[in-house]
Amino acid sequence: MKKSILIKLVIAMLCMCLIAGTFAGCSGNNKQPETTSESAEELAAFENIDPKELAELTNCYDPEADTDLDAARSNNNEAPIAGTIISGQDITFTNSSLVEYTRLSPNKTIHRNHKIDTITIHYMAGKLTVEACGNVFSESKANASSNYGVDDDGRIALYVQEWDRSWCSSNADNDHRAVTIEVASDSSHPYTVSDKAYNTTIKLVADICKRNEIEKLVWSDDKEARIKHLDGANMTVHSDFADTDCPGEYLYSRMGDIAKQVNSILEETKGQTVTGRKCSEEKQFEEYLVKITKTTNVRRNPGLKGSFVMKVNKNEVYTIVDERTVDNIKWGKLKNGKGWINLADTQKK
Ligand SMILES: [Zn+2]
Repeated sequence: MKKSILIKLVIAMLCMCLIAGTFAGCSGNNKQPETTSESAEELAAFENIDPKELAELTNCYDPEADTDLDAARSNNNEAPIAGTIISGQDITFTNSSLVEYTRLSPNKTIHRNHKIDTITIHYMAGKLTVEACGNVFSESKANASSNYGVDDDGRIALYVQEWDRSWCSSNADNDHRAVTIEVASDSSHPYTVSDKAYNTTIKLVADICKRNEIEKLVWSDDKEARIKHLDGANMTVHSDFADTDCPGEYLYSRMGDIAKQVNSILEETKGQTVTGRKCSEEKQFEEYLVKITKTTNVRRNPGLKGSFVMKVNKNEVYTIVDERTVDNIKWGKLKNGKGWINLADTQKK
Protein backbone atom coordinates (compact mmCIF):
# COMPACT_ATOMS: atom_id res chain seq x y z
CA MET A 1 0.00 0.00 0.00
CA LYS A 2 2.88 2.29 -0.75
CA LYS A 3 1.82 5.80 -1.61
CA SER A 4 3.88 8.57 -3.07
CA ILE A 5 4.91 11.33 -0.67
CA LEU A 6 2.76 13.81 -2.57
CA ILE A 7 -0.39 11.72 -2.33
CA LYS A 8 0.32 11.10 1.32
CA LEU A 9 0.78 14.80 2.04
CA VAL A 10 -2.46 15.65 0.28
CA ILE A 11 -4.24 12.93 2.24
CA ALA A 12 -2.72 14.17 5.50
CA MET A 13 -3.90 17.68 4.75
CA LEU A 14 -7.36 16.50 3.77
CA CYS A 15 -7.54 14.52 7.02
CA MET A 16 -6.55 17.58 8.99
CA CYS A 17 -9.29 19.59 7.30
CA LEU A 18 -11.73 16.81 8.04
CA ILE A 19 -10.64 16.63 11.65
CA ALA A 20 -10.76 20.41 11.86
CA GLY A 21 -14.38 20.27 10.69
CA THR A 22 -15.14 17.65 13.31
CA PHE A 23 -13.66 19.81 16.06
CA ALA A 24 -15.92 22.70 15.20
CA GLY A 25 -18.91 20.41 14.92
CA CYS A 26 -18.43 18.52 18.17
CA SER A 27 -17.43 21.39 20.36
CA GLY A 28 -20.89 22.84 19.97
CA ASN A 29 -19.71 26.27 19.01
CA ASN A 30 -18.20 27.96 16.02
CA LYS A 31 -14.76 28.36 17.49
CA GLN A 32 -12.20 27.41 14.89
CA PRO A 33 -9.72 24.75 15.91
CA GLU A 34 -6.35 25.97 16.96
CA THR A 35 -4.53 23.56 14.70
CA THR A 36 -4.43 23.91 10.96
CA SER A 37 -2.11 22.26 8.51
CA GLU A 38 -0.25 25.57 8.47
CA SER A 39 0.56 25.48 12.17
CA ALA A 40 1.49 21.80 11.89
CA GLU A 41 3.94 22.71 9.15
CA GLU A 42 5.34 25.51 11.27
CA LEU A 43 5.80 23.04 14.08
CA ALA A 44 7.52 20.60 11.74
CA ALA A 45 9.93 23.26 10.54
CA PHE A 46 10.77 24.31 14.02
CA GLU A 47 11.36 20.78 15.26
CA ASN A 48 13.21 20.02 12.02
CA ILE A 49 10.86 17.15 11.25
CA ASP A 50 9.49 16.10 7.89
CA PRO A 51 5.88 17.45 7.82
CA LYS A 52 4.75 14.03 6.64
CA GLU A 53 6.11 12.46 9.83
CA LEU A 54 4.63 15.18 11.97
CA ALA A 55 1.18 14.67 10.47
CA GLU A 56 1.14 11.27 12.18
CA LEU A 57 1.89 12.82 15.55
CA THR A 58 -0.61 15.67 15.54
CA ASN A 59 -4.36 16.06 15.78
CA CYS A 60 -4.97 12.77 17.55
CA TYR A 61 -7.45 14.38 19.91
CA ASP A 62 -11.06 13.28 19.94
CA PRO A 63 -13.15 16.06 21.50
CA GLU A 64 -16.06 13.77 22.29
CA ALA A 65 -17.39 14.47 25.78
CA ASP A 66 -15.15 17.48 26.19
CA THR A 67 -16.76 20.83 25.54
CA ASP A 68 -13.71 22.78 24.58
CA LEU A 69 -10.23 21.86 23.47
CA ASP A 70 -8.45 24.52 25.50
CA ALA A 71 -10.55 23.81 28.57
CA ALA A 72 -9.64 20.13 28.29
CA ARG A 73 -5.91 20.76 27.97
CA SER A 74 -4.19 20.81 31.33
CA ASN A 75 -0.88 21.43 33.03
CA ASN A 76 -2.14 19.83 36.20
CA ASN A 77 0.01 16.75 36.81
CA GLU A 78 -1.36 15.75 40.19
CA ALA A 79 -2.43 12.15 40.66
CA PRO A 80 -6.06 11.39 41.53
CA ILE A 81 -6.46 11.49 45.31
CA ALA A 82 -6.07 8.16 47.07
CA GLY A 83 -9.30 6.24 47.22
CA THR A 84 -10.57 7.58 43.90
CA ILE A 85 -13.09 5.17 42.44
CA ILE A 86 -12.79 4.69 38.69
CA SER A 87 -14.97 2.13 36.90
CA GLY A 88 -16.24 1.01 40.30
CA GLN A 89 -12.76 0.25 41.61
CA ASP A 90 -10.43 1.94 44.04
CA ILE A 91 -7.40 2.46 41.87
CA THR A 92 -3.88 3.44 42.75
CA PHE A 93 -2.19 4.56 39.55
CA THR A 94 1.57 4.57 39.07
CA ASN A 95 3.92 5.16 36.14
CA SER A 96 6.52 2.76 34.80
CA SER A 97 9.87 2.68 36.54
CA LEU A 98 11.44 1.84 33.15
CA VAL A 99 11.06 5.48 32.10
CA GLU A 100 14.35 7.24 31.30
CA TYR A 101 12.99 10.61 30.16
CA THR A 102 9.98 12.56 31.38
CA ARG A 103 8.43 15.52 29.63
CA LEU A 104 4.80 15.92 30.62
CA SER A 105 2.50 17.16 27.86
CA PRO A 106 -0.35 19.64 28.41
CA ASN A 107 -2.31 17.76 25.71
CA LYS A 108 -4.29 15.49 27.96
CA THR A 109 -7.58 15.16 29.81
CA ILE A 110 -7.42 14.76 33.57
CA HIS A 111 -8.14 12.18 34.85
CA ARG A 112 -9.07 8.95 33.10
CA ASN A 113 -12.70 7.92 33.57
CA HIS A 114 -11.94 4.22 33.10
CA LYS A 115 -9.57 1.74 34.64
CA ILE A 116 -6.65 0.74 32.43
CA ASP A 117 -7.57 -2.45 30.60
CA THR A 118 -6.27 -1.88 27.06
CA ILE A 119 -2.94 -1.34 25.29
CA THR A 120 -2.67 0.73 22.09
CA ILE A 121 0.69 0.67 20.32
CA HIS A 122 1.26 3.38 17.68
CA TYR A 123 4.01 4.12 15.18
CA MET A 124 5.69 7.53 15.10
CA ALA A 125 6.09 7.23 11.30
CA GLY A 126 9.57 8.60 11.89
CA LYS A 127 12.65 7.97 14.02
CA LEU A 128 12.10 10.72 16.52
CA THR A 129 14.13 10.61 19.70
CA VAL A 130 12.13 10.60 22.93
CA GLU A 131 13.16 14.25 23.32
CA ALA A 132 11.96 15.29 19.84
CA CYS A 133 8.67 13.48 20.30
CA GLY A 134 8.35 15.16 23.72
CA ASN A 135 8.98 18.53 22.08
CA VAL A 136 6.11 17.96 19.65
CA PHE A 137 3.73 16.86 22.41
CA SER A 138 4.72 19.79 24.61
CA GLU A 139 3.26 22.17 22.01
CA SER A 140 -0.42 22.78 22.59
CA LYS A 141 -0.92 23.21 18.84
CA ALA A 142 0.03 19.58 18.28
CA ASN A 143 -3.28 18.54 19.87
CA ALA A 144 -1.76 15.15 20.48
CA SER A 145 0.16 13.14 23.04
CA SER A 146 0.74 9.59 24.23
CA ASN A 147 1.30 8.09 27.65
CA TYR A 148 4.70 6.68 26.65
CA GLY A 149 7.19 6.91 23.80
CA VAL A 150 9.91 4.45 22.75
CA ASP A 151 12.69 5.66 20.48
CA ASP A 152 14.92 3.80 18.02
CA ASP A 153 17.53 3.19 20.73
CA GLY A 154 14.91 1.65 22.98
CA ARG A 155 14.73 4.56 25.40
CA ILE A 156 11.38 5.03 27.14
CA ALA A 157 9.71 8.39 27.77
CA LEU A 158 6.71 9.40 29.82
CA TYR A 159 4.54 12.16 28.30
CA VAL A 160 1.16 11.65 29.96
CA GLN A 161 0.97 9.95 33.32
CA GLU A 162 -1.04 6.77 33.48
CA TRP A 163 -3.90 8.32 35.46
CA ASP A 164 -4.60 10.84 32.68
CA ARG A 165 -6.10 10.33 29.24
CA SER A 166 -3.64 10.91 26.42
CA TRP A 167 -4.80 12.36 23.10
CA CYS A 168 -3.44 9.61 20.94
CA SER A 169 -5.92 7.29 19.23
CA SER A 170 -8.49 9.80 17.87
CA ASN A 171 -11.03 8.18 20.15
CA ALA A 172 -11.89 9.43 23.63
CA ASP A 173 -13.29 6.13 24.91
CA ASN A 174 -10.20 4.22 23.82
CA ASP A 175 -7.76 6.73 25.28
CA HIS A 176 -9.65 6.74 28.59
CA ARG A 177 -9.08 3.00 29.03
CA ALA A 178 -5.84 2.39 27.11
CA VAL A 179 -2.23 3.09 27.84
CA THR A 180 -0.93 4.52 24.57
CA ILE A 181 2.64 4.08 23.35
CA GLU A 182 4.32 5.82 20.39
CA VAL A 183 7.13 3.70 18.94
CA ALA A 184 9.83 5.09 16.60
CA SER A 185 9.60 3.54 13.15
CA ASP A 186 10.64 4.07 9.55
CA SER A 187 8.70 6.86 7.89
CA SER A 188 7.30 4.73 5.05
CA HIS A 189 5.64 1.37 4.49
CA PRO A 190 6.02 -1.12 6.14
CA TYR A 191 7.12 1.25 8.94
CA THR A 192 9.77 -1.10 10.29
CA VAL A 193 10.71 -0.79 13.96
CA SER A 194 14.24 -1.51 15.26
CA ASP A 195 14.77 -4.65 17.35
CA LYS A 196 15.75 -2.46 20.30
CA ALA A 197 12.53 -0.45 20.11
CA TYR A 198 10.47 -3.60 19.57
CA ASN A 199 11.95 -5.50 22.52
CA THR A 200 11.71 -2.45 24.79
CA THR A 201 8.05 -2.02 23.86
CA ILE A 202 7.38 -5.61 24.92
CA LYS A 203 9.08 -5.01 28.29
CA LEU A 204 7.15 -1.78 28.80
CA VAL A 205 3.81 -3.38 27.95
CA ALA A 206 4.52 -6.26 30.35
CA ASP A 207 5.31 -3.72 33.07
CA ILE A 208 2.07 -1.80 32.37
CA CYS A 209 0.04 -5.03 32.44
CA LYS A 210 1.59 -6.14 35.73
CA ARG A 211 1.00 -2.87 37.55
CA ASN A 212 -2.55 -2.55 36.23
CA GLU A 213 -3.51 -6.17 36.85
CA ILE A 214 -4.03 -7.05 33.21
CA GLU A 215 -3.45 -10.80 33.52
CA LYS A 216 -3.30 -11.60 29.84
CA LEU A 217 -2.82 -9.56 26.70
CA VAL A 218 -5.17 -10.64 23.91
CA TRP A 219 -4.82 -9.59 20.27
CA SER A 220 -7.57 -10.17 17.74
CA ASP A 221 -7.27 -9.85 13.96
CA ASP A 222 -10.92 -8.81 13.91
CA LYS A 223 -11.50 -5.07 14.19
CA GLU A 224 -14.95 -5.43 15.70
CA ALA A 225 -13.63 -7.79 18.37
CA ARG A 226 -10.91 -5.28 19.22
CA ILE A 227 -13.22 -2.27 19.43
CA LYS A 228 -15.91 -4.12 21.37
CA HIS A 229 -13.38 -5.99 23.52
CA LEU A 230 -14.93 -9.32 22.56
CA ASP A 231 -13.41 -12.60 23.78
CA GLY A 232 -11.00 -10.80 26.06
CA ALA A 233 -9.45 -8.70 23.28
CA ASN A 234 -7.58 -5.86 24.95
CA MET A 235 -5.29 -4.46 22.27
CA THR A 236 -6.49 -1.84 19.82
CA VAL A 237 -4.80 0.11 17.02
CA HIS A 238 -5.14 3.71 15.87
CA SER A 239 -6.55 2.67 12.47
CA ASP A 240 -9.52 1.12 14.31
CA PHE A 241 -10.68 4.67 14.99
CA ALA A 242 -9.23 6.94 12.30
CA ASP A 243 -8.19 6.98 8.67
CA THR A 244 -4.51 6.35 9.27
CA ASP A 245 -1.85 3.74 8.47
CA CYS A 246 -0.89 3.69 12.16
CA PRO A 247 0.53 1.40 13.54
CA GLY A 248 1.89 0.37 10.10
CA GLU A 249 2.23 -3.11 8.64
CA TYR A 250 5.37 -4.03 10.61
CA LEU A 251 3.81 -3.54 14.04
CA TYR A 252 0.29 -4.56 13.02
CA SER A 253 1.46 -7.96 11.77
CA ARG A 254 3.38 -8.49 15.01
CA MET A 255 0.67 -7.62 17.54
CA GLY A 256 0.02 -11.34 18.10
CA ASP A 257 3.73 -11.88 18.74
CA ILE A 258 3.85 -8.91 21.11
CA ALA A 259 0.92 -10.38 23.08
CA LYS A 260 2.64 -13.78 23.17
CA GLN A 261 5.94 -12.38 24.42
CA VAL A 262 4.24 -10.14 27.00
CA ASN A 263 2.20 -13.07 28.26
CA SER A 264 5.28 -15.22 28.71
CA ILE A 265 6.88 -12.44 30.80
CA LEU A 266 3.67 -12.18 32.84
CA GLU A 267 3.70 -15.94 33.33
CA GLU A 268 7.38 -16.01 34.37
CA THR A 269 6.97 -13.18 36.84
CA LYS A 270 3.68 -14.34 38.32
CA GLY A 271 3.46 -13.52 42.01
CA GLN A 272 6.20 -10.90 41.80
CA THR A 273 5.22 -7.34 42.51
CA VAL A 274 6.38 -4.61 40.19
CA THR A 275 6.69 -1.19 41.71
CA GLY A 276 5.87 1.87 39.73
CA ARG A 277 6.77 5.48 40.23
CA LYS A 278 4.49 7.84 42.08
CA CYS A 279 3.42 11.23 40.79
CA SER A 280 5.71 13.12 43.15
CA GLU A 281 8.71 11.43 41.55
CA GLU A 282 8.05 12.99 38.15
CA LYS A 283 10.42 15.90 37.88
CA GLN A 284 9.13 19.07 36.31
CA PHE A 285 11.43 21.65 34.81
CA GLU A 286 12.94 23.91 37.46
CA GLU A 287 13.58 27.43 36.25
CA TYR A 288 17.03 28.93 36.79
CA LEU A 289 18.97 32.16 36.29
CA VAL A 290 21.66 32.71 33.67
CA LYS A 291 24.08 35.53 33.07
CA ILE A 292 24.78 36.41 29.44
CA THR A 293 28.48 35.90 28.71
CA LYS A 294 28.38 37.09 25.10
CA THR A 295 25.85 39.32 23.33
CA THR A 296 23.46 36.92 21.65
CA ASN A 297 20.27 36.76 19.58
CA VAL A 298 16.86 35.99 20.98
CA ARG A 299 14.91 33.82 18.53
CA ARG A 300 11.19 33.25 18.41
CA ASN A 301 11.67 29.49 18.24
CA PRO A 302 14.63 27.41 19.44
CA GLY A 303 17.14 26.72 16.67
CA LEU A 304 19.19 28.80 14.27
CA LYS A 305 16.19 28.89 11.91
CA GLY A 306 14.06 30.65 14.52
CA SER A 307 13.36 34.22 13.48
CA PHE A 308 15.37 37.02 15.14
CA VAL A 309 13.51 38.93 17.86
CA MET A 310 16.12 41.05 19.67
CA LYS A 311 19.58 40.96 21.21
CA VAL A 312 20.46 40.42 24.85
CA ASN A 313 23.69 41.88 26.15
CA LYS A 314 26.67 40.64 28.10
CA ASN A 315 26.22 40.58 31.90
CA GLU A 316 22.42 40.83 31.76
CA VAL A 317 20.61 38.21 33.84
CA TYR A 318 17.59 36.22 32.66
CA THR A 319 15.39 33.42 33.96
CA ILE A 320 15.21 30.24 31.86
CA VAL A 321 11.91 28.34 32.05
CA ASP A 322 12.42 25.59 29.47
CA GLU A 323 15.13 23.93 27.40
CA ARG A 324 15.31 22.39 23.95
CA THR A 325 18.13 20.84 21.98
CA VAL A 326 17.98 21.56 18.25
CA ASP A 327 20.82 20.43 15.95
CA ASN A 328 23.04 19.79 18.98
CA ILE A 329 22.61 23.32 20.31
CA LYS A 330 20.92 23.71 23.67
CA TRP A 331 18.40 26.57 23.80
CA GLY A 332 16.78 28.18 26.83
CA LYS A 333 13.36 29.81 26.86
CA LEU A 334 13.25 33.25 28.47
CA LYS A 335 10.72 33.75 31.23
CA ASN A 336 9.87 37.19 29.82
CA GLY A 337 8.28 35.47 26.85
CA LYS A 338 10.51 37.13 24.22
CA GLY A 339 11.89 33.87 22.87
CA TRP A 340 14.86 31.51 23.07
CA ILE A 341 18.62 31.99 23.50
CA ASN A 342 21.62 29.78 22.83
CA LEU A 343 22.68 28.59 26.30
CA ALA A 344 26.32 28.36 25.15
CA ASP A 345 26.35 32.17 25.37
CA THR A 346 25.31 32.10 29.04
CA GLN A 347 26.53 30.98 32.41
CA LYS A 348 24.25 29.43 34.99
CA LYS A 349 24.06 31.57 38.14
ZN1 LIG B 1 -1.23 6.51 15.94
